[in-house]
Amino acid sequence: MRLVVDLNKCQGYAQCAFLAPDVFAMHGEESLIYNPRAEEEQRERLARAVAACPVQAITADGLDRVGEVREAPDGR
Ligand code: SF4
Repeated sequence: MRLVVDLNKCQGYAQCAFLAPDVFAMHGEESLIYNPRAEEEQRERLARAVAACPVQAITADGLDRVGEVREAPDGR
């Protein structure tokens, strides 16, 4: 799954690196490096990272900010 981090928004809080260390890593104090094509099995961790980012800098395919996860019960 593809993801993008808006590095203009990212403040280097490292929440994402803590929650999904296979996808995100801090490089130095403030710069973030990440895998823009995360493995599907990272989905859950990635969802937590998306939700935890204090500045909502992470966007991932098929994942919205948690709390806004839209899974229509009728399968739409
Ligand atoms: S949690 Fe958000 S602000 Fe913090 S390093 Fe990750 S993307 Fe940047």
